[in-house]
Amino acid sequence: MTVEASPPSPRGADARQSRPVLLTVDDDPSVSRAVARDLRRRYGNEYRILRADSGADALEAIREVVLRGEHVAAILADYRMPRMNGIDFLEQAMDLVPHARRALLTAYADTSAAIAAINVVDVDHYLLKPWEPPEEKLYPVVDDLLAAWQREGREPEHKIKILGHPWSVASYEVRDFLARNMVPYRWYNVEDPDGQRLLAAAGVPADQIPVVITTGGDPLVQPGLSEVADAVGLTTAPAEDFYDLVIVGGGPAGLGAAVYGASEGLKTVIIERAAAGGQAGQSSRIENYLGFPDGVSGGQLTDRARRQAVRFGAELITARSAVGLEVKGPARRVIFDDGSSVLSHAVVLATGVSYRQLPAAGADDLVGRGVYYGSASTQAASCAGDHVIIVGGANSAGQAAVFFSAHAAKVTMAVRGDSLTHSMSTYLIEQIEAIDNVEVRLNTRVEKCEGLDHLQCVTLIDVRDESVEVVDAGHLFVFIGAAPLTDWLPDDLLRDRAGFVRTGSELTSGGERPPGWDLDRDPYLLEASIPGVFVAGDVRAQSVKRVASAVGEGALAVTLVHRYLAE
Ligand SMILES: Cc1cc2nc3c(=O)[nH]c(=O)nc-3n(C[C@H](O)[C@H](O)[C@H](O)COP(=O)(O)OP(=O)(O)OC[C@H]3O[C@@H](n4cnc5c(N)ncnc54)[C@H](O)[C@@H]3O)c2cc1C
Repeated sequence: MTVEASPPSPRGADARQSRPVLLTVDDDPSVSRAVARDLRRRYGNEYRILRADSGADALEAIREVVLRGEHVAAILADYRMPRMNGIDFLEQAMDLVPHARRALLTAYADTSAAIAAINVVDVDHYLLKPWEPPEEKLYPVVDDLLAAWQREGREPEHKIKILGHPWSVASYEVRDFLARNMVPYRWYNVEDPDGQRLLAAAGVPADQIPVVITTGGDPLVQPGLSEVADAVGLTTAPAEDFYDLVIVGGGPAGLGAAVYGASEGLKTVIIERAAAGGQAGQSSRIENYLGFPDGVSGGQLTDRARRQAVRFGAELITARSAVGLEVKGPARRVIFDDGSSVLSHAVVLATGVSYRQLPAAGADDLVGRGVYYGSASTQAASCAGDHVIIVGGANSAGQAAVFFSAHAAKVTMAVRGDSLTHSMSTYLIEQIEAIDNVEVRLNTRVEKCEGLDHLQCVTLIDVRDESVEVVDAGHLFVFIGAAPLTDWLPDDLLRDRAGFVRTGSELTSGGERPPGWDLDRDPYLLEASIPGVFVAGDVRAQSVKRVASAVGEGALAVTLVHRYLAE
């Protein structure tokens, strides 16, 4: 059923018919009505709002619009629809109205589908349901769509394009970087005719991939991530020289600190080396975070947190690593990888942890070419029909097994221990047991990874009797515990033997304050051995490795920053 959702224009029927169309399609009539109502409220005077309850009805409506010689400016399509899902619908709609801008309405759980949609139907935006209040969540997106449609009209599209090879590490890094930063791009394999054509047009030899073609049409040849970040409009340098609070790390702890810091009036900047979200941003489904009874994808959760922090005025600097920390009188100085720096009254270290290297022969050489650390959602599509190996037995590995089981022919979990119960939550164990194509191999270690230009087979050893099995597998994802990367911090910032940063009472055991501590008080609960430097989340010694505790520590750190600033 297609419904005209605009009231008649005061200018009469002809004027109404010639208005460009804004089309929304959702199989849930109440959602469809609600979207149409919100669209009508804001855009009803200039656009004709049409709504449809199925992809087939919507295609019919588009055909009519096209036959009448009218324009479709933008389409908002639900992803989960019976018979024809949003991506299949948009794919067909593109044949009819290639210049209409496209947004996919998704639930939290469908991030990976939304990311995949970038390449299939070139969607401009994802809209998370629910979109209340529309002023904040719906209208800015639709404004963007309409501005792009008006700007580009019938001109050819200039989206960010990546030309690369599926087994090139650098190509993978660029794709992963953009996907993790939620930047839509279009991927071209340079072995395909389209990829070759674009490469030739850019005048770049095939051995100089990846090439990123900007929205302005400029080719960036083998760019660094900060060059890519600049080109796609991510901020890579702080706007000011001095802040109240510099936060290093944009995972849940850093974002938590930023939301509280910025909302409580502190001039706040976050420095993030890769993409905001941290480890949590790579989790396909977090089921134990308070307030999300149906689970939430880590990408969605942390994207919301990022937007919240930015809305409160926090600056987010992406693709920049902190490589030094110095005391400059009452100020603290954080130094970047290019030698530049930023000063602040206080610092929150929220750098989390990174995965340990897999001690298997050949694994290092195949990183990015079949061997991946963490959950690389960009690889989901290329796992189709493949045998995937997940190494590790904790929750992160379990989530990855569930996630990849929907894409791969078979998933094998290689777990060193003799049981999952010590390391994995019961709900995940139950989920895994219920999935036919997931095999759990306990007492198993990965001995060797082999392949010519990409991973092809993996040697597994049963640690009980050292028996060997070589299995064919094209993808292997490593989740074997993590270590803090804190070597860059000064020696007088005390850490434990594993490198986790000590704070609060950890620094005063034995009744002594840390060496060089010159204040007439003990370090606060989350304060490190340098006054004014606070630590939150996984990087802190004795921390609980959870999203909720990282967020909570980020918030608490800000309270302590206020106390420190008031001294
Ligand atoms: C796949 C997976 C699934 C998980 N599932 C769950 C779950 O279901 N429930 C749960 O509670 N927990 C889960 N966890 C654990 C949870 O994600 C972490 O405990 C949490 O993300 C820790 O937050 P953090 O901010 O302390 O650190 P991180 O999330 O590690 O973030 C640290 C950030 O700092 C950045 N950084 C590091 N060094 C620098 C530097 N020098 N300069 C600039 N930036 C830097 C990193 O790039 C990163 O973005 C999961 C983890 C993984 C990997």
